[in-house]
Amino acid sequence: MKKIGLITSGGDAPGMNACIRAIVRTARAEDIEVVGFYRGYEGLINNDSVMLTKSSVSNIIQRGGTILKTARSARFQTPEGLQQAIAVIQQHQLDGFIVIGGDGSFRGAAELAKNSGIKVIGCPGTIDNDLVGTDFTIGYDTAINTVTEAIDKLRDTAESHDRIFVVEVMGRDAGLIALRSAIAGGAEAILIPERTGDLERLLEKKKNWRKSKKSKIIIVAEREEHGGAVEIGKILKKEWPDLDIRVTVLGHIQRGGSPTCMERVNASLIGYYAVKALQQNRTNEMVGIVNKMVRYTPFQDAVKHLVEMNPEMIKILEVLSM
Ligand code: ATP
Repeated sequence: MKKIGLITSGGDAPGMNACIRAIVRTARAEDIEVVGFYRGYEGLINNDSVMLTKSSVSNIIQRGGTILKTARSARFQTPEGLQQAIAVIQQHQLDGFIVIGGDGSFRGAAELAKNSGIKVIGCPGTIDNDLVGTDFTIGYDTAINTVTEAIDKLRDTAESHDRIFVVEVMGRDAGLIALRSAIAGGAEAILIPERTGDLERLLEKKKNWRKSKKSKIIIVAEREEHGGAVEIGKILKKEWPDLDIRVTVLGHIQRGGSPTCMERVNASLIGYYAVKALQQNRTNEMVGIVNKMVRYTPFQDAVKHLVEMNPEMIKILEVLSM
């Protein structure tokens, strides 16, 4: 193997830079050249590229975002766009390709592998932690730490004013950021997209709330059934007119920031094993880490279904928050 290509694709996630660094350093140690393409599949189609060297990835392990930038590319999903991407890969004479991204990016990676014949490996890069075949995705740990820190700050002001805060967190169809940060932040309730009836449960639960603790934090995943924290806030203000209810949407702050120690280490391992996978002639697979061991999962299985939420964790949150 002499030369490989690399993109970051879909939503950005802290730790992507650590993964890029690991891929480049591992490849260069084996004398493999690495071509990076800017802005995901869009940059591949446009041949917007850069030769990545050991020194070009210096001093990035601690930085959020991605030095290769990222984008969503509608053109790549057309037959013409895919053919153009394959032509660029052939022009560069690439022997392998690595995609750091989420489920959409891996659907694209599977198309690339099928139609180009090139070996393609994926590194799970999304704050949502919604891929099958890995205990965590790059970005998730930093995002939940960011949310936990925000909850702590909101709790200070909520406690001072005896307020209820309805806090919206990211996660699209997955409530994992909501659940994990709710446990860490001592939140009183969560509303998540994986199940219905959370609002009714919350209204019922209020009857048993401890009177001594006036501040409440309610974590709402962005795509729960009523459409998010703003809508939930409106409903609660009607239901509980005597209470002081505030809504905070954390938004893109959850995507930024310096990656946590755990994130950097995991992203580094994943990047290292992605290069090793290509060297072992693996293709059409995502690198994951399960129970501290590397695991390769075919793209179609990694994106197949929603990662199941452990019902025991929801129960634990309920018990601990009463
Ligand atoms: P995140 O989970 O952070 O949103 P993602 O990788 O799921 O990341 P998407 O926007 O879903 O982000 O996908 C990224 C890109 O992958 C798309 O812009 C598109 O170019 C490509 N892609 C997505 N789905 C497909 C598909 N079914 N076939 C080919 N390419 C796809």
